[in-house]
Amino acid sequence: MTPAPAPSVGRLEVICGPMFAGKTTMLMERIRQARAAGVVVGVFRPARDTRSSPASIMTHSGLSLGATEIDSADEVLAGRHACTMAAIDEAHFFAQALLEPCLELRRRGAHVLVAGVDLDHRGRMFEPFASLIPHADLVQRLQGTCARCGRPSTHTQRLVEEEGRIVVGGDDLYEARCAACFKPPSGMAP
Ligand SMILES: [Zn+2]
Repeated sequence: MTPAPAPSVGRLEVICGPMFAGKTTMLMERIRQARAAGVVVGVFRPARDTRSSPASIMTHSGLSLGATEIDSADEVLAGRHACTMAAIDEAHFFAQALLEPCLELRRRGAHVLVAGVDLDHRGRMFEPFASLIPHADLVQRLQGTCARCGRPSTHTQRLVEEEGRIVVGGDDLYEARCAACFKPPSGMAP
């Protein structure tokens, strides 16, 4: 199949929401669809996220797809995908540093897909999403199911008392909650 031509105008899409809402699943589906159409897709994940193997992104249900592990947000700018399509999972690990590389990719004509958690364990807006969302062509905020009451989840409840906006863990440390069941940690914000 002949690769699809690069679009002349880039596109920035954000897939955000709490943990356990299907963000990575949606990202994987988009990657599969693009590759089926012949688009070169760069897939990236942060090295700091130690939950899945270095060479893949992984859903909570165990599905995985090959990915490049990167330490720095600037690394998304390298490679053949830079003018076609870039998919970045767990974007909150890169914080504000991911904003400029994403905008630069779009300027080059790339279709940029960014997935990650948009509210931290205190319920505050998480970078890079606070900055990315106003620039996005499309924002999809996904919901899961509140582990307490079954309503749609909008928040991520941290189940252990640890400070720091990034604490790596899965369902051993976090739980999906609706806004009514979400309880931010007591004490002063760091
Ligand atoms: Zn609830």
